[in-house]
Amino acid sequence: MFIIGCHLSTEGGYRSMGERILSVGGRSFQYFTKNPKGGKQNKPADPEDVAALLALIQENGLTMPLAHAPYTYNPCSKDEGVRQYSCDSMHGELEFLENLPGSLYNFHPGCHVGQGVEAGIDFIASMLDKVLWKGMQTTVLLETMAGKGTEIGRSFEELAAVMERVDPGLREYLGVCLDTCHVSDAGYDIIGDPDGVLREFDRCIGIDRLRAVHLNDSANPPGSHKDRHAKIGEGSIGLEAITRIINHPMLKHLPFYLETPNDLAGYGEEIALLKTLRE
Ligand code: FE
Ligand code: FE
Ligand code: ZN
Repeated sequence: MFIIGCHLSTEGGYRSMGERILSVGGRSFQYFTKNPKGGKQNKPADPEDVAALLALIQENGLTMPLAHAPYTYNPCSKDEGVRQYSCDSMHGELEFLENLPGSLYNFHPGCHVGQGVEAGIDFIASMLDKVLWKGMQTTVLLETMAGKGTEIGRSFEELAAVMERVDPGLREYLGVCLDTCHVSDAGYDIIGDPDGVLREFDRCIGIDRLRAVHLNDSANPPGSHKDRHAKIGEGSIGLEAITRIINHPMLKHLPFYLETPNDLAGYGEEIALLKTLRE
């Protein structure tokens, strides 16, 4: 089965997101756990609304959604207050996600802001030690990053280093989300040599850790370290490479989420196009 979906606004609530993804022919969706740029907490979720989404997922055989942490979190900030806020908020969100068992939760590892990669990796791992717990039902994903500024996660080695420093008893709750725009911007040749990139992923991290794909084209050339998403087929990655990615035997079974610059109708068109390209 082709598990394709897109990013959706939380406006209208949980059940509404399920209805919207069904309306555009998707099988899963991604949403922000709170306003991505503001620090303000969303209104507490209405338990009935969450239960309604869960019922809709079960009735329609949808794949449990991917929750994306807001960009304001920085687990390896210089500022202890920001680190604490990121940790507390993430923990609260993961507790809430027990209401949607089997969820994925994706976050950007963070920016070390001049403290150095090593120090950054230590901060991220120590936060993960605090927010994960034995028996939790969510898998927490580190996203592959474009390497803009001091972003950690620009290489598979950096993500592996974070996971290796997490308590061995908690590592089973960790995975990776591969963003096609980000890895291309980071300098991996996902266009010309996807096999090589995935072999490299397997060597550094282990391919079984790969749990989701952010399917985006890139507005910038490979290696640009920019992170600007383009619509499918309208960027430097292009439709041919995207087609290879959605059909790749090492990726085929994973959920794919579009984060392209689109409204719901535009996502519907991309989902329809991708379905025609899926083998
Ligand atoms: Fe992201
Ligand atoms: Fe992404
Ligand atoms: Zn991005």
